[in-house]
Amino acid sequence: MIRFDLVCAADHMFEGWFRDGASFDDQAARGALICPVCGDSAVRKAVMAPAISRGTPPLAGADAKREQLAAALQMIRQVQDYVEKNFHDVGDRFAEEARRMHLGEIPHRDIYGRATAEEATALREEGVPIRPLPLLPKLDA
Ligand SMILES: [Zn+2]
Repeated sequence: MIRFDLVCAADHMFEGWFRDGASFDDQAARGALICPVCGDSAVRKAVMAPAISRGTPPLAGADAKREQLAAALQMIRQVQDYVEKNFHDVGDRFAEEARRMHLGEIPHRDIYGRATAEEATALREEGVPIRPLPLLPKLDA
């Protein structure tokens, strides 16, 4: 198996595994190589120095998919970090606080917390602008 670093027309880098160099040429010619990021089929080799694997090769594109997933998770964590640093945690009082702010009973501030599905639905029906946050388990540093 030969590993090629590949790049699409939008400069997304990913890697692909091929039986041999001719196999790459064949798949590229048929447009069978697809960028895992943007779906572009104008894929070419990024470098001309393939590595040769002696171990079991990963499935083509598996690494790229994992990286994409890792990048997505990373982005969610960044949003979460940002919210935790810049928003006030009101915990289970979220629905109450959000409603009181919406009604002008307390000054507006950025808050986050927990709400049940029923509370969230009720808030939306009252026109309170809430947004669900994707929640991930904390990583222990
Ligand atoms: Zn791409």
